[in-house]
Amino acid sequence: MPSSTAVSVYPVPAFQDNYLWVIHNGQYAAVVDPGDHAPVLEYLRANFLELTAIICTHHHADHVGGVEPLLEALKLREKIPVYGPASERIPARTHALREGDQITVPFLDVTFTVLDVPGHTAGHIAYFGEGLLFCGDTLFACGCGRLFEGTAEQMTDSLSKLKRLPPETKVFCAHEYTMANIRFAEAVEPDNADLKLRKAFCAAKRHRNLPTVPSTIHLELATNPFLRWDQPAVQAAAARRNHGIDANAAPALVFGAIREWKNNF
Ligand code: ZN
Ligand code: FE
Repeated sequence: MPSSTAVSVYPVPAFQDNYLWVIHNGQYAAVVDPGDHAPVLEYLRANFLELTAIICTHHHADHVGGVEPLLEALKLREKIPVYGPASERIPARTHALREGDQITVPFLDVTFTVLDVPGHTAGHIAYFGEGLLFCGDTLFACGCGRLFEGTAEQMTDSLSKLKRLPPETKVFCAHEYTMANIRFAEAVEPDNADLKLRKAFCAAKRHRNLPTVPSTIHLELATNPFLRWDQPAVQAAAARRNHGIDANAAPALVFGAIREWKNNF
């Protein structure tokens, strides 16, 4: 699996299609978005890892439902940090975070900077550092989260921040939605050659039951229709849904038309 200089990151599958990400150095571990506790406990025990932090991106149950049971099971309540967005209700949160805050995960010696990425939820945050991005349900492999609490304007601002990250950044999203996302992306951009390559590559992975995540910012920029509002082919596809759209249309207008199409795809 992928690793930065200091740590490795492993997917713990949960529910239908969630990934609970465990960041560890062979001894200590942090878990990102533990929607469920049982698979995390099992992973920690099987790998002799000691949990030293919980990191949350937003308040949905499939991302935080395991926080309190984990703390209880490991008798860690108030002993380890639970990082989460300042403006959302996160169980047992000890550190309320917003844009620009930095965290250094105890015993792992990795530092993340917090980005505000509202759109999927109003207070959604992402964590970026060590060449890694944990973005919850904001950016998916070849897709993006639904706008449950935010606007298309907010989501395009949020995604713009992610677009500016270094291209080699590894993108750890919270769900395995990639093949369905690619099928939609093909409808938007049938002639995108990078997308065809990605489809073959990801299909082969899924065939062997392997995760298609992480991806990279570079790959997302080339293939993810929700980051490509500045591309003529995406603008043309958006214009077929919303006739007011042309090459000068605001990003949020193009993005919004594509997002709405996906909602009904
Ligand atoms: Zn969510
Ligand atoms: Fe989710």
